[in-house]
Amino acid sequence: MKFTEHIQISERAIRHLFSLSRSYATCLILNAVLQNLMPYVPIYFSARLIDALYERQPVQVLILYAALTVGIVFLLSLLSAYLSSRRDIANQELYLSEEWSFSQKAMEMAYASIEDPDVMLLRKRIAMESQTGYDLWYLTSSTESLVSSATRILMSLSMTLSFFFLEGIPLLIKLGFVAGILLTILCGALASRKCETIFSHFLDTCVRLNVFGGKYGDYIGHYSSGKDIRLYGMAESLLGFSVNLKSEHHRLSMKLSWKWAALKAADVALSHVLKFCVYLILLYAALSGQITVGSIARYVSCVMLLLAAASEAVSNVQRAIVNHTYLKRYFSYLDIPNPMYQGSLTVEKRDDNEYFVEFRDVSFRYPNTESYALRHVNLKFRIGEKLAIVGKNGSGKTTFIKLMCRLYDPTEGQILLNGVDIRKYDYDEYMSIFSIVFQDFRLFGFRLGENVAAGSSYDPQRAAHCLEQAGFGERLAAMPEGTDTFLYKEFDESGMEISGGEAQKVALARALYKDAPFLILDEPTSALDPVSEYEVYSSFNEIAGDKTTIYISHRLASCRFCDKIAVFDSGGIVQTGSHGTLISDEGGIYHALWHAQAQYYTEEAGAYTA
Ligand code: ADP
Repeated sequence: MKFTEHIQISERAIRHLFSLSRSYATCLILNAVLQNLMPYVPIYFSARLIDALYERQPVQVLILYAALTVGIVFLLSLLSAYLSSRRDIANQELYLSEEWSFSQKAMEMAYASIEDPDVMLLRKRIAMESQTGYDLWYLTSSTESLVSSATRILMSLSMTLSFFFLEGIPLLIKLGFVAGILLTILCGALASRKCETIFSHFLDTCVRLNVFGGKYGDYIGHYSSGKDIRLYGMAESLLGFSVNLKSEHHRLSMKLSWKWAALKAADVALSHVLKFCVYLILLYAALSGQITVGSIARYVSCVMLLLAAASEAVSNVQRAIVNHTYLKRYFSYLDIPNPMYQGSLTVEKRDDNEYFVEFRDVSFRYPNTESYALRHVNLKFRIGEKLAIVGKNGSGKTTFIKLMCRLYDPTEGQILLNGVDIRKYDYDEYMSIFSIVFQDFRLFGFRLGENVAAGSSYDPQRAAHCLEQAGFGERLAAMPEGTDTFLYKEFDESGMEISGGEAQKVALARALYKDAPFLILDEPTSALDPVSEYEVYSSFNEIAGDKTTIYISHRLASCRFCDKIAVFDSGGIVQTGSHGTLISDEGGIYHALWHAQAQYYTEEAGAYTA
């Protein structure tokens, strides 16, 4: 990384820290300055006191020096205690703001980035790195340490400066004094640079091992894998992996500690030799009568503090530089652009609900993939129509829906709403016209009503009505607190567990509550039992009302009532038409799929007989 890049990252990091919590950053810096001013008060006044004693000054002067020492330190301590308590309280604010800014970023990202494996890995890596103490959290401690050492360096320098103006001390001795200090700092810098390089290499390896370890931990700890692990006897090999991981960690840390210890020992030995030389120089000055007894004490203390602060500053700078690699990754996540075209047109709110959607020669490839998931798709449908999409797994049905609701933009071609390219509409407004239940929908550990309304405020009657429409009525009646009941136990111990089929009904109720002109159901009944499935189908026309419904299903019998059926195969639409038209085309895929499934259905109900 170039020097200018280091400066840019440092500057951005400090700005970021202030933007997350101004009070935390301010208290942190002020407190670091105050705490490091404190040791200099007794050094300064003790030297004055010794000299006053030596010169036999009146006792009032001695008492004044003592009172000033204690009084100033007392005031500084009070202020520092206040600042550090403010800082510790603001630490929570910093933590929450950081969590929130990270989550907010995830919400602002294009959906394509959320699904992108590289982005997922980056996010995981950043989380893992922050556990090793680096990235933003290291920034707080390194800022504090740097401010501390800078304060001590400045104070020590200002209190030793007078040494260089003493006339009786030969220039050579003065130069030797400076060289001794510089050499100590240089040795410290070289040793700490070497230590940091070794350490950052070690951390890098650990982070990679931990990312893998975390994945295995997820498998072992998550209840959904518990059944498979037990049934297939996978526990031993999974635990074996974690044992190997630990021994690899141990081997790496032992290697590191030996190298580190040797370097530190060499550094400590050298710096003490040099410190001794500094002592000799000061003794020489004292013996030749150039400095007073009090000044010796002051110079010795200040020079020792200066050396310690300088080598600490050097090692802090080194660490900050290492941390820049992590911060760069952290900021690269925050900087992930949203390449989706952000239109500004408002979606016309039509009283007649006359929306018209058209896919015009649409092709699409997922990011970082070679093959097309959709190829030359052309389809038109209008509001109020009931469209069914059928086809084998992987034929592109879900991708079609993802494009229609702008989770992705087409690679080629256009999707039009009322003749206007959907990219030109304001994104949030455009999204507001869709209610979708995806196969992999997600409910949250909030109240049932909040889940249905997808928000913290909801109309209980309306939520209950939608739940009844979705076939959840009986279960709702059995819930002690009705729509106020918490789902799952994440936020409330009395939360109710619900089955996959019941969850699917709640997801359907959520789509109904939104009351958008488009209702899209992607395999909405896959987790329902045959009776519930039949109930949903038979009341579906009533539930959907005049909404446009797009209905994806493997089960062709459930699509028969739709006005139009589009048959997908290998990313393209190969047939469109009503059930009657399609079934009469004996060479078509629909005919083949229908007959493959026909044994499971009775003609009259379209419900399962098996
Ligand atoms: P269907 O809904 O008909 O089962 P999909 O639309 O989910 O099919 O998938 C169509 C094709 O796109 C499949 O080959 C699938 O592997 C691929 N695909 C789906 N999602 C992604 C993704 N996020 N990244 C890359 N390829 C994907």
